[in-house]
Amino acid sequence: MKRIYLDNASTTRMDETVLEEMLPFLKDEFGNPSSHHRLGEVASDAIERSRESIAKSVNVKPSQVIFTSGGTEACNIGVGMGCCVRDGDCQKRTIMISPIEHPAVRESAISLRNAGFSLIETDVSNDGIVNPLGFQPSGKSASCLFALMHANNELGVIQPVEEVAKIAKDCDVPFFVDCVQSYLKLPMDFRRLGASGIAVSAHKIHGPKGVGALIVSEDAKIKRLVFGGDQESGLRAGTPSVANIVGFGAAVRSGFPIDESVIRNTERLRNRLTRGLIESIPVASLNGSAEKRICHIASIAFDGVEARTLLEWLDEQGVIASAGSACTSRRLEPSRILTAIGLAPLKALGTVRFSLDACTSRDDIDEAVDLVRRGVSFLMGNKPPNGLAAAPAH
Ligand code: PLP
Repeated sequence: MKRIYLDNASTTRMDETVLEEMLPFLKDEFGNPSSHHRLGEVASDAIERSRESIAKSVNVKPSQVIFTSGGTEACNIGVGMGCCVRDGDCQKRTIMISPIEHPAVRESAISLRNAGFSLIETDVSNDGIVNPLGFQPSGKSASCLFALMHANNELGVIQPVEEVAKIAKDCDVPFFVDCVQSYLKLPMDFRRLGASGIAVSAHKIHGPKGVGALIVSEDAKIKRLVFGGDQESGLRAGTPSVANIVGFGAAVRSGFPIDESVIRNTERLRNRLTRGLIESIPVASLNGSAEKRICHIASIAFDGVEARTLLEWLDEQGVIASAGSACTSRRLEPSRILTAIGLAPLKALGTVRFSLDACTSRDDIDEAVDLVRRGVSFLMGNKPPNGLAAAPAH
């Protein structure tokens, strides 16, 4: 059966070239990069080559790139910048985050709240755009960190990070930006973004799982989360996962510079999918802004249909998508992000996230639209009295 993979915001298929570059480091080049012999030096040089590739992709120095075990760890350390007391700032103990942050950021902020910090969530409009001015009120007097993601992982909506960066600069507050979904999809110059730290992850860009990076400004104050040796300039102890880091570098080299024509084509296909679903399915609607949107994500609500049931049905037909984000999709509650933008719980439970990559074809999209239309119609025909569609009889 043909497989149409539309879950690239959860993870991507690893590139063949990435795998080829990784393989030697899983076999013969197995040295520890901290060792002072030839095998160790080969590993260490390979890590530094990846660091240079990642640094170049966002226009920073290699020393500003800290490898982590993924986007989640990079977000945890990034939010931790909030509890690094800056000179004369010990009164600043308020963390401000948007209400649509990934759990990697939100839960880190909550852990700081549990440790005595105040936590304020700003507001978000019905089209999924966070109000930058929400960061202003308590900024100057009390804040020790602002956090706003670059593009939301469930909606795909692009956030006003540059505006928040200006407020952060005026208030002299460190600003963390989760760039896991936007990396190599939106142009990204670290300095122009105005962040103190950003998080990126390899498996969203056709690299391996289990590796990411925190990229920081040269004057950023960082709190250690992992204690041990002095790897990663002493900021993140532990023998690094050399093959994964090599794979990360290879994925970046194949995706940078960003090919604008690929981005435009993905955008066109995403619009074709959105239009096709909305025009052929009366209960379908797009969640979030239609304009301020990253190229590969469409969040579609099918009012009155249970997304999980629809996804099971689609999976059997070879179409793979997801409900909300991967981290929450096993739960039955409506997504926190979708309810934050004002979606009724039933509509949120009926939402499917479709996410494309550069390999998605026009035929894939047309076939997927047709199958979703048939799936929704099948499930609506079996509608039980509580308003949610029944599980298909299989
Ligand atoms: N931040 C965002 C916006 C994400 O979408 C994800 C993953 O889905 C993460 C952070 C976590 O990244 P990782 O899976 O590399 O830990």
